[in-house]
Amino acid sequence: MLLIEADGKALFKVAGIRIPDGFVVVKGAAAPAIAGPGPWVVKAQLPVGGRGKAGGVIRCENEAAVRAALKQLLGARIKGHEVLSCRVETAVSSTDEYYLSLMIDPVHYGVRVALLPEGGVDVEHAAPTAAERIRLCDLDEHAIVAAIRDLASEESVDRQAAIVDVGEKLTRLFVTRELILAEINPLFFDQAACVAGDAKVVVDLNAVHRQPEIAQLIELNVPVYPDAHRKLHDGFDYVEIDPEGEIGLVTTGAGLSMMLIDKLIARGGRPLNFCDIRTGQFRGDPKRLMRVLEWISARPSVRILLINIFAGITDLSEFADLLCTALERTPSLQVPVVARLVGNRVEQARSILAARRPDIAVEEALDAALEHVDVVLRGARA
Ligand code: GDP
Ligand code: MN
Repeated sequence: MLLIEADGKALFKVAGIRIPDGFVVVKGAAAPAIAGPGPWVVKAQLPVGGRGKAGGVIRCENEAAVRAALKQLLGARIKGHEVLSCRVETAVSSTDEYYLSLMIDPVHYGVRVALLPEGGVDVEHAAPTAAERIRLCDLDEHAIVAAIRDLASEESVDRQAAIVDVGEKLTRLFVTRELILAEINPLFFDQAACVAGDAKVVVDLNAVHRQPEIAQLIELNVPVYPDAHRKLHDGFDYVEIDPEGEIGLVTTGAGLSMMLIDKLIARGGRPLNFCDIRTGQFRGDPKRLMRVLEWISARPSVRILLINIFAGITDLSEFADLLCTALERTPSLQVPVVARLVGNRVEQARSILAARRPDIAVEEALDAALEHVDVVLRGARA
């Protein structure tokens, strides 16, 4: 999960990496007095990259311009996200924009280290010359720093020292915080020292339980990281694939769930979410189901709930019981429910659903369930 720049920079600061002076202004709160000579940059804090090109980074020559930029950005929608906060920074007067990044390379079981002198918003265009500026090495602090040292060897002696210094700190952060990506673009030079103009940090949500510092960033900023916060507390992923989706999914098994999404889209449907609810971890508690049902029911675009459980070890009669209880306790979910259940103790599950929730359409064949979904959606649209 990508952190907003302000959180990435907070991690940088603790790691000893220099960042420009600045502060964060939250939507609805008063901006503090802006002292100093400027100029400044006002930067929308969004969990996406490419803000510069989308108008989310504004350079300001004076205090009035900073206030105008804050007014313009806070509450605006940029790249599909509402701007909930901005970071105001003293602009760095640097003409050089380098690119430095460390990235987990899952294909090669290693780390990809990149150092390019031509960073900035058009870094992608440096790609043809980038190949010799990238090293692949082991996930090991010494190996990563050696790669950075090697990549920096063409720079002036002063710059080499500065790049290796920031590189060592970034490497330490990357390894100890179990990051997936740590990118500085642009990396500025102030005199000979490096300053991180931006921070793009991707954290591994499967490692957060070992990373209290990152867990705290998520806890402090739930509106920015709602899905990560749910994963932290519920132990599985909530993945919204279409914010206007009509079909809410409660499914188990990652492959089966992806196949179902493909089939729905191929039929012209709009699934809301990917879901691997992991029925094996319910342990007799409907809470996990209730949390997903609440999450789905909060989306006004949803017209139907589709459940798809292919039960190997899972006892479908237990699932059916928990589902009925979860639905009773989630009155906000008002849409029709179609359940495709197949496998272990399906007959018992059918009897339970027939007794407790006769309104639920239960199917064993996937095509029949999908047909049922089409009928409901056609009815909703008519
Ligand atoms: P991104 O587009 O989301 O990656 O946002 P960045 O933080 O990288 O800002 C985009 C661009 O704005 C950078 O590549 C710089 O060219 C420019 N920029 C941002 N802050 C500063 C600054 O303090 N000084 C200078 N000279 N340029 C800046
Ligand atoms: Mn950037």
